[in-house]
Amino acid sequence: MRMQFPFAPAVPALILAAMTLSLPTHGEETHRELGAHVHGHGTLNMAVEEKRVSMELEVPGMDIVGFEHAASTEEQKAAVEKAKAQLAKPLALFALPPQAGCAVAEASVAVEAEQHDDDHDAGDKEDAKAEHDHEEAAGHNQFHATYALDCTRPAELTAITFDYFKLFAGAHELTVNVVTAKGQSKYEVSRDKPMLDLDGIM
Ligand SMILES: [Zn+2]
Repeated sequence: MRMQFPFAPAVPALILAAMTLSLPTHGEETHRELGAHVHGHGTLNMAVEEKRVSMELEVPGMDIVGFEHAASTEEQKAAVEKAKAQLAKPLALFALPPQAGCAVAEASVAVEAEQHDDDHDAGDKEDAKAEHDHEEAAGHNQFHATYALDCTRPAELTAITFDYFKLFAGAHELTVNVVTAKGQSKYEVSRDKPMLDLDGIM
């Protein structure tokens, strides 16, 4: 299959959907609605096609800046701008083997609104409406970054070190989905275990 993989958001979504269908679901995740985020837990989708590595990172604002409402104070706005600048440097977040020869071709970071599972608790109609309004006002923003890397020797992409956890104190776990010519793999990395071994799948 020819995977053209520019930054059309539909393409990573399609790959993720394919993974969701083809991989066994962890029990702890079955109660989650697709699209809802969990604080402390982000997702990194990664696709390797020849020399192009495409990545997509989705992380709750809580993990990155410690709040998810729209930035209102100067301090909050500065925190968001600083985080965007940090997230725009994927090789400082996800350290790759130098011998793979990867360089950043494109990086894009945005803040997007996201819904929570518990935004729709059943209850008295008035209370439910009030709660919903409150939630909308409070917000659940998340950071969404997309990257394109060009690697001179992609076969050397045998490991990733997640310096990401050092930069963002609220980040605890990342689910990592990797698509290569050899197939699809799903991993969990964490603050306690920030290394991913990709030997054998490139
Ligand atoms: Zn949230």
